[in-house]
Amino acid sequence: MTTESPLATARAQLRSAVEKLELSESMWNTLSTPRRILEVAVPLRRDSGVVEMYHGYRVQYSTTRGPSKGGVRFHPDIDLDETVALAMLMTWKCALVNLPYGGAKGGVAVDAKSLSSRENERLTRRYTSEILPIIGPERDIPAPDVGTDEKNMAWMMDTYSVNAGFSVPGVVTGKPIVLGGSLGRTSATGDGVAISTREALKDLGIKIEGATVAIQGFGKVGYWAAVAVESMGMKVVAVSDVSGGVKDFGSIEELRAHVATGATLSTYKKGEQITNDQLLHLEVDVLIPAALADAINHQSASQIKAKVVVEGANAPTTPEGDQIMKERGILVIPDILANSGGVIVSYFEWVQDKQNYFWGADEVKENLDSMMMRAFADVRALVRERKVSWRDAAMMIGVSRVAEAHKLRGLYP
Ligand code: GLU
Repeated sequence: MTTESPLATARAQLRSAVEKLELSESMWNTLSTPRRILEVAVPLRRDSGVVEMYHGYRVQYSTTRGPSKGGVRFHPDIDLDETVALAMLMTWKCALVNLPYGGAKGGVAVDAKSLSSRENERLTRRYTSEILPIIGPERDIPAPDVGTDEKNMAWMMDTYSVNAGFSVPGVVTGKPIVLGGSLGRTSATGDGVAISTREALKDLGIKIEGATVAIQGFGKVGYWAAVAVESMGMKVVAVSDVSGGVKDFGSIEELRAHVATGATLSTYKKGEQITNDQLLHLEVDVLIPAALADAINHQSASQIKAKVVVEGANAPTTPEGDQIMKERGILVIPDILANSGGVIVSYFEWVQDKQNYFWGADEVKENLDSMMMRAFADVRALVRERKVSWRDAAMMIGVSRVAEAHKLRGLYP
C-alpha cells in the first residue's frame, strides 16, 4: 500500500470538501493553488568556521481572509511539498476557528538539535532576513512549530525590528512575554488539545474524571496536553518521545524533570518501557498523537484500541489510517480543530501587540475556551446534519469560509 505525500493528502482532503460543498471547478482552481512561495538558501557559518548551506521556505498559501499565519519548522525532512501542505492546513484551521487570517508555513531543512545556540541564532536571523520582504504584522506572521520555540521568535522579532528601525513585536507570535508575548501561549496548543479531548468525551458519553489517555510526543504539545488533561481529572497512563515510551510512570512533572536534563524517555527508570507502536495500541479511552506526520497509518490504525483520537500534531494520520479508523468506529478529532489552540492564542498575542494592551492569564484561557467551544459547536452541528466525519465537517466549514471570502472579494482585475 502506498502512502501519499503530505501535499497529495492535503489536496485529496480539499477535493473531498469541495465536492461535498458542491463548489465550482473555478473555486477548486482558486482554493487548490498556493498564492506565494519563497524558496531561499540559508548560509550558516558553523562554530568551526565552515560555511554550510540549508534550504529554507516560506509559503503563503492564502491571504484572502487576512494576513497569512503559521509556524516555522526546523526539521531535517522538511521540503517544499510538506511546507505547502502545512500552509494549506493552516488556511482551513484559521478559517474554521474564525480568525481573520489566511494560512502560511515556513521552515528550514536542518536538525535543530545539531546546532549550538549561537548557530541556531545565526541560522534563524539569516532565514528571517531572507524572508523579510514578505513577512510583517499586516502581511504574514510566523510562530513556533516543530524544532523552534520562543527563543527563535525573539531572534526573528529582533532581526525584523532592527531592519525596520523600531520595535515591531507583532511580526511574530509565540515570543517571550517581556517582548510582547502573551500569557498562556506556551501551553496554548496543549490546552486546546485538552479542551478538544473533554468535548469529544462528552460527545461519546464517557466520564471525564478518570478517563485514560496515551500521548505520543512529549514536546511543546504533548507535555502541555498531559498537564491540561490531568488538571481536568483525566489520567495520562503513557507518553512517548522519539526514543520510545513509558507506561505507569511516577508523574508528568517527574518525566518533565527527566527530559529537562537533556535525557530521552528511554532512560527513565521508573515505570514500564514501551515502544512507540505499543503506545499507539494501548487500551485507553483517548489517544493523542502529538509528534510528527503519518504516525497513524495503514499498519498502526487497525490495532488502535482508543475510543477517540485527538490529533495534537499536524497531519498525524494518513488517508489509509483515517479510513481504517472510520470503519472501526473510532472518533477522530481532526488536527485543524484539535490543535487550533496554538494559533488562537497567537491571534490573541497579535491583537495585544497591536493594541499595546496585555491581558491577564484568565482572560486568555476563557477566550481560548469559548473560541474552541464555538468551533466545536459548528463542527458537531454539521456532523449531525450531513452525517459526515468530524474531519470532513471541519474541512467543509474552513473551506466554505475561505470560498465565501473569495466570492465576496471577487477577482481582480
Ligand atoms: N505552529 C502552530 C500550528 O501549526 C501555530 C501556528 C501559529 O501560531 O501561527 O498551528
